[in-house]
Amino acid sequence: MTTSIPEARYPERLAAARREATRSGIDALLIGVGADLRYLAGYEALPLERLTLLVLPSAEGTPATLVVPRLEATPAMGCPGVRTGVIEVATWEETEDPIRLVATRLAAAAGGPPEAVTAVAVSDGLRAAFVLGLQAVLPGARFSLAGAVLRALRMVKDADEVALLRTAAQGADRVVDAIAAGPLVGRTEVDVAREVRDRLLAEGHETGSFWIVASGPNSASPHHEAGDRIIAGGEPIVIDIGGTVGGYGSDITRTIWVTGPEGVQPDDEFRRLYEVLRDAQQAATDAVRPGIACEALDAVARDWITAAGYGPRFIHRTGHGIGLEGHEEPYLVAGNGEALGEGMAFSVEPGIYLEGRYGARIEDIVICGPDGPVVLNELGRELRVVRG
Ligand code: ZN
Ligand code: ZN
Ligand code: ZN
Repeated sequence: MTTSIPEARYPERLAAARREATRSGIDALLIGVGADLRYLAGYEALPLERLTLLVLPSAEGTPATLVVPRLEATPAMGCPGVRTGVIEVATWEETEDPIRLVATRLAAAAGGPPEAVTAVAVSDGLRAAFVLGLQAVLPGARFSLAGAVLRALRMVKDADEVALLRTAAQGADRVVDAIAAGPLVGRTEVDVAREVRDRLLAEGHETGSFWIVASGPNSASPHHEAGDRIIAGGEPIVIDIGGTVGGYGSDITRTIWVTGPEGVQPDDEFRRLYEVLRDAQQAATDAVRPGIACEALDAVARDWITAAGYGPRFIHRTGHGIGLEGHEEPYLVAGNGEALGEGMAFSVEPGIYLEGRYGARIEDIVICGPDGPVVLNELGRELRVVRG
C-alpha cells in the first residue's frame, strides 16, 4: 500500500515549477503555507501569523529558500524538499523582519537591488498582510497568482499521486460499506459521523476531513452538517465522506435506504429518482476521455437529469478536481471550456434534491485515462436497501 510520495519527485516538481514560471515571465514564485507548499516541498506547515514562505526564483541554478520562523526550523529541515538538498532553509528570529529577508533573497537571485525584481507570483491563499508587506519591499514588481503557474502541474497526476488517490478511495469505500451495514436506525447523524471518522483513521487515512450523514429530509441538502436528528426507518441517508492518505484526498458519496424493523421500502418516486441519478452518473463517467471539455461532462449528467424532469433539482456542478486539496481544478461546471487531459483527477457527483422531502447523490473519484475513465471507487452504485 502506498502511503507517501517518493522524495525523488520533489526535485522534479521544483524544476517543472521553475520552467512554468519562466514560461510565464515570472522572476520568482512566493509560496506560503498550503497545498502549493505541500506540492513543491512536501512541507506541511502550520498556518501561523508568522511568515513561512518558499522563495523559488525561476532561474535554474539559483537556490530555492524556505523562509521559516526560527521555532519551526526542525520540521522545516525534515521536509522532503529540504532533505533532498534542493531547498535550503533560512530562519528568522522573533525580532527580525522576515519580509526583508525575502526581499534580500530575491534581490540576490536577480543580481541587483529589490527594485530589480519585476514579476513575482504569490500562492493563492497567501495572507493579505504578507502580500501587502511584499508589495511594499518590491516596488518594481508586478504581482500575480502562483495558481495560474502551478495549476497545469497540479491538475495532472503522476502514477504516485494516482496510487495515493486509489488507496484513499478504496479505504473510503470500505468505510461506507461498513456504515451501510448498520446499525443506523435510532442513532443520531452525529453519532454515525463519529463512526465514519474513526473508521477512516482505522483504514489508514491520516486525517478525516468531512463526514456528511444526511438522513430523511436532510438528504435534500447537499452540504448538510451531521446533526442531532435520529435516523428512522423508511428514509434515505446520503453519506458523503473523505479524508487524506499521503496528503491526497478521498471523497465518496453513496445514498442508501434504511427500511427499519418495519421494512418500509423506498417509494416509487425515490426509486425513479435514484435510477435517473444512477444513469446520469454512469453516463457522465463513461463520457470521460482526453479532450472533452469540463462543461461538456457537466452537460452529460445535467441533460440526462433534465430529460427526466429533475433538471431544477440538480443544484450544483457535476464535479471538482481532487488531489492535495479536496476541491481543486478542474471544475466540471457550465462555462468551463477547459479540455480534460490524461491524468486529471476529479469527482463525478450529480445529485437530485427534492427540498423538504429527500434527495440522493452518487459520487466517485475518476481519473481521465488515455482512452477513457479510470474509476477509483469500487463500491457498488445500485440503490442499497438495508434494514439499518
Ligand atoms: Zn461537496
Ligand atoms: Zn463528496
Ligand atoms: Zn466531492
